[in-house]
Amino acid sequence: MYKKKLKHSEEVLQELLKSQGLSRRDALKLMGAASATTMLGSSPAMASSDVNAAAGSDKKAKIVIVGGGAGGIMAAARLRRSASNAEIILIAPNAIHLYQPGQVFMAAGLYTEADIQHKNSNLIPDGVKWLKDTVTEFNPDNNKVLTKDNGEITYDFLVVATGLDYAYEDIEGMSADLVGTKGISSVYLNNPAEGTAKGGTATHEWFKQLRAAAEKASPDNPVNAIYTQPDTPIKCGGAPQKILYLSDDYLRGNGPVGGSDVHNNVKSYFCKKGNTLFGVPDYNKTLVERITPMYGNITDKFNHVLRKIDADKKIATFEHTYTVKGDYDEDLEEYDIINKTENVAMPYDFIHIVPPMKPAGAVAASPLGWQKGSAKGWLEADKYTLQHRRYSNVFGIGDILGVPKGKTGGSARHHGPILQDNLVAAMEGKELTAKFDGYTVCPLKTQYGEVMLAEFNYKGKAPSFPLDPSEPRWIWWAFDLYMLKPMYWHLMMRGWM
Ligand SMILES: Cc1cc2nc3c(=O)[nH]c(=O)nc-3n(C[C@H](O)[C@H](O)[C@H](O)COP(=O)(O)OP(=O)(O)OC[C@H]3O[C@@H](n4cnc5c(N)ncnc54)[C@H](O)[C@@H]3O)c2cc1C
Repeated sequence: MYKKKLKHSEEVLQELLKSQGLSRRDALKLMGAASATTMLGSSPAMASSDVNAAAGSDKKAKIVIVGGGAGGIMAAARLRRSASNAEIILIAPNAIHLYQPGQVFMAAGLYTEADIQHKNSNLIPDGVKWLKDTVTEFNPDNNKVLTKDNGEITYDFLVVATGLDYAYEDIEGMSADLVGTKGISSVYLNNPAEGTAKGGTATHEWFKQLRAAAEKASPDNPVNAIYTQPDTPIKCGGAPQKILYLSDDYLRGNGPVGGSDVHNNVKSYFCKKGNTLFGVPDYNKTLVERITPMYGNITDKFNHVLRKIDADKKIATFEHTYTVKGDYDEDLEEYDIINKTENVAMPYDFIHIVPPMKPAGAVAASPLGWQKGSAKGWLEADKYTLQHRRYSNVFGIGDILGVPKGKTGGSARHHGPILQDNLVAAMEGKELTAKFDGYTVCPLKTQYGEVMLAEFNYKGKAPSFPLDPSEPRWIWWAFDLYMLKPMYWHLMMRGWM
């Protein structure tokens, strides 16, 4: 049971602290430092990315920020402080702001939707004009955007903070409306413009339905559960596995309601592109060698990408890519490698679908996106300075950035001071010296009561803390569950950390 496990984890924590000569007071400091260094951190962000102290500018300029999610609100708060004479306009349709990482805790039955909602009017800083509107067209050649209700808005500097869009419909037979019906769920489903997070609520119901079915099944006649991950970039790349492990642990009776261990009555399949569970080797090792075997009922189906679903018949069809050895090439003195693709139909009782994700529509349709290649449509920003590579008065923050890493709130947090410094430098006509290092954080919930705090950047593993980051720990679970959310609202959204 979850409470029992917490007690146990508490004992483990005490032992850990004792062995390291740390007091409980030190532990709390540690958690503060940890949160500061990850999603919400202040000075550690500066340490991990190369940032000058934002000097500020008293130049007159009109700055337009598009998008009022994590990145947009943070950019508004930071720029309001650093650009004292600038007119700052935030174009954002949403009255409610969502703390999206909390959708996983909603699925786990530990948060409600109300827990992750906050009025945007309380977050938008004084001195920033809020235009409750949506940008329908970006026109960077003429320094203006077109809005749905307020016509054209011109700017001297533009900050693009639109996040990304889901593309459930890119899976044949699938639509967002199916989430919460016919054994289908998807923790990601939300509507940032409306401030609702159906995916969290529906996935908790799905946990309960899966458990109810497992209680009636047996290892010889098991329930089939499929968990998918698409082949597009996604925000919070660890969330597909968070749901896999938390739902399996819920079956073991470790969720908030407890119950007997029925997880062996469920056969779980995790289907994704590629042949690793995590791109950083040390974190992958923990997942492959310890977490997957710990559950025992999970089969990883690598290079399986969901392409089609028959919701009525409960059949999911995957594109399976693989290679076979061809003829021996005498000249090259090696065998040809032949790429093959086949469709694999898998019946299921329950399926958790992570949608393909794509750049926000208005950005993708504009000249601001990469024009070709795998990043096509995502904001064509320099991966270090976050400045647009073709339009020097345009900057980006958050998930919309077409840079190699960093589609997490923690990354947006680290983009904040870089954007602040570099946009102010651009206003002053100075060189842009602040550099984003690719910081990304994934608090991967490996079971109820434990999180592996996977932090990495362009160079690889990037722990901000002197504890082995590949080790799942209760302390990270506790700060993720109890501390990150208030810090997000009160410090990160204010641009203080
Ligand atoms: C299930 C889940 C779990 C997650 N877990 C974690 C985690 O554990 N740790 C972590 O760090 N991150 C996590 N994240 C990711 C994190 O929430 C995002 O990376 C973060 O919110 C990105 O901020 P953003 O400002 O780029 O986008 P968003 O916060 O999505 O905001 C974008 C805003 O732009 C608006 N917008 C879009 N187009 C337009 C337009 N044309 N005009 C005006 N406004 C527009 C949208 O309405 C939205 O309000 C998770 C996300 C989900 C969904």
